Amino acid sequence: MDKICIKGLEVFGKHGVLPEENALGQKFVISATLFCDTRRAGKSDRLEDSVNYAQVSELLKAETESHVFRLLEALAWHLAKEVLLHFEMVQGVTVQVEKPWAPVHLPLDTVSVQIHREWHQAYLGVGSNLGDREGQIHAAVEYLRQDELTRVVQVSKLIETEPVGYTEQDDFLNGAIEISTLRSPEELLELTQGIEGKLKRERKIHWGPRTIDLDILLYGREVVQRENLCIPHIEMERRMFVLEPLCQIAPYAVHPLSGRRVQELRQALLDGKNV
Ligand code: ADP
Ligand code: MG
Repeated sequence: MDKICIKGLEVFGKHGVLPEENALGQKFVISATLFCDTRRAGKSDRLEDSVNYAQVSELLKAETESHVFRLLEALAWHLAKEVLLHFEMVQGVTVQVEKPWAPVHLPLDTVSVQIHREWHQAYLGVGSNLGDREGQIHAAVEYLRQDELTRVVQVSKLIETEPVGYTEQDDFLNGAIEISTLRSPEELLELTQGIEGKLKRERKIHWGPRTIDLDILLYGREVVQRENLCIPHIEMERRMFVLEPLCQIAPYAVHPLSGRRVQELRQALLDGKNV
C-alpha cells in the first residue's frame, strides 16, 4: 500500500515516569507513516482526494501537548488511534515517538517506541433464543457501534433457526455482522464477552438457551489458536445458522484454513458434503 510520511516532528511535551519530566517537559520527536491508497489523488491532483499531512501533523502536535502519559507506548498508541479515527482514508499507521533527552544518564542519541496499528475487517455471528430476541440482537449491535475502536459495516437479516445440540429449547434468531476494528482478536473477544455480560447472558447449559451469543467468525485472514479463542470459529463450517446469514453479507469472504469462500462452505453443507 502507498505511504505518506511525516518525519521528525518536534513537539514539547510532559510525558514520562519521573515527576520532573511531568513538571518541566522536554522534546519529543514524532514520525508517522500513513498507509493509504493515493491512486485517486495521483490522478486528480486534488488535495480533497488525499490525506492532508499538514492536518495530521497539527493533530499529532495538539494531542502530544494536551495529554500527559507516563510511557512512550501510551503516547504512541494514543496518537495512532487519533489518526486512524480522524482520517478515514488512513487504513494503517506506523507511529514512532522519540525522546532524545530521556533521563538515562548515558551517552545515547535517542530512545524511541514504534508501533503499527490498522483497521481489521472481521465477521461476527450473533444469536439469541431467550426473551426479546430481536431487541437483544439490536442491543448487541448498538453496543458494538458504541465502541470507539469498532465500526459496524453491515448487519445481515436475521433468520429463524432450530436449536442444535440441546434441542429442548426455543428457536434461535441468528445473524452475522461485518465490523472494522482497531482491536486485536483478544481485545475483540473482550468486547464481545463484555456485551454478552451486559445483556445478562448466563452460561447454564452448554449450547443451552441464551439471551445473546456473540462469536468471532473471521478476523481478516488470521488464524488464532488459543485456549480461549479460536479463529476462524471452530464450528462455523458445520453451522447453517452461521453460514446462511454470513453468506448474505460476505459470500466471497475466504476461510483461511480451507481456502474456501463462505458461499462454497454454505453450498457444501447444504449438499451434505464433508467440508
Ligand atoms: P458457542 O458460541 O460455541 O455456542 P459459547 O458462546 O458458550 O459457545 O463459547 C464458549 C467459549 O468459547 C468462550 O468462553 C470463548 O472463550 C470461546 N471461544 C473460542 N473461540 C471463540 C470465538 N472465535 N468467538 C467467541 N468465543 C470463542
Ligand atoms: Mg459463543
